[in-house]
Amino acid sequence: MKAVVYKGPFEVAVEEVEKPKVQHPNDVIVRVTSTAICGSDLHMYEGRTAAEPGIVFGHENLGTVEETGDGVTSLSPGDRVVMPFNVACGFCQNCVKGFTGFCLTVNPGFAGGAYGYVAMGPWPGGQAEYLRVPYADFNCLKLPPGNSQESDFILLADIFPTGYHGNELAQVSPGESVAVYGGGPVGLMAAYSALLRGARMVFVVDRVLERLQKAEEMGAIPINFADGNPVEQIKEKAGGQGTDKGIDAVGYQAQARTEDREEPATVLNSLVETVRATGALGIPGLYVPADPGGPDEQAKRGMLLVGIGRLFEKGLRLGTGQCNVKRYNRQLRDMIIEGRAKPSFVVSHELPLTQAPDAYDKFDKRIEGYTKVVLHPQM
Ligand code: ZN
Ligand code: ZN
Repeated sequence: MKAVVYKGPFEVAVEEVEKPKVQHPNDVIVRVTSTAICGSDLHMYEGRTAAEPGIVFGHENLGTVEETGDGVTSLSPGDRVVMPFNVACGFCQNCVKGFTGFCLTVNPGFAGGAYGYVAMGPWPGGQAEYLRVPYADFNCLKLPPGNSQESDFILLADIFPTGYHGNELAQVSPGESVAVYGGGPVGLMAAYSALLRGARMVFVVDRVLERLQKAEEMGAIPINFADGNPVEQIKEKAGGQGTDKGIDAVGYQAQARTEDREEPATVLNSLVETVRATGALGIPGLYVPADPGGPDEQAKRGMLLVGIGRLFEKGLRLGTGQCNVKRYNRQLRDMIIEGRAKPSFVVSHELPLTQAPDAYDKFDKRIEGYTKVVLHPQM
């Protein structure tokens, strides 16, 4: 079968690899119909991780069940399903509590697994014609038959739940004001989720005009940090105390405001100043324990200079960590089915799998409006 294979920094290729087989009675094989490229795939693509050449990318996957293991009870061939990017067992201490992003079973020596991702376990990705899904009764979420709303449903694999998770981490409630730093796909989904949860005022901070325009179209307030300090811009509009809540949808590759270089702690420190005393911060944006490509010695060791004194002084609470997709995907699916949510406005390109190398290149360079690419292996 065809799959997107990592060859080395800034290079992927569509190559023939072995088609996955049922290896355990609880596996299913899914024939992939939609698989999205994620900003976090770029961390590997850019050579900033320990990813070895040969890994098949793809943690955002949707398709139809082709074959089921003998132990699978809830799924049949032909079912349309979307999988959380998290691979989870469903029975360990963390899964039972709902923390499926921190499963203790699927990735020896580490809490949490994912498809097609370095250090996240032995699970090949789904940017391919077929995908093996383990613990399939637990990991597959059924969708209505046919191919309706596919570009909405594919976002249930990661970015819609991850944006929602940012709100959950910050405990965003109706009537609150929220500042979202980062207007990429996850940031836009975080702002969209804040509005779904009844926030009264949602800011989106970025400097890419298309992103700010999308934020405005959904009813958020765009803040262009190229125009001036975003903290001051938000405080001017939200009242002097700042917003009730803040969400970091940028992570460690944050850019300095006025210079062309990375400044990994800048979003965290801006959020500490943007959110009012006793507020809360949700941090779904990715921070890593080590970043060999980091801008200084501390960043290389995953250590950032964060204003902990101001954080303490203001009594702010923090919520961190990757999304436990299963906690939200069923409800968000049902909002899509009922027409209450339509997250596909973030999808910029739908392309055949064979165009993956070009799509990675353009997405990585942020050119030609490549914001969220969905690949179709059957196209
Ligand atoms: Zn993703
Ligand atoms: Zn588990």
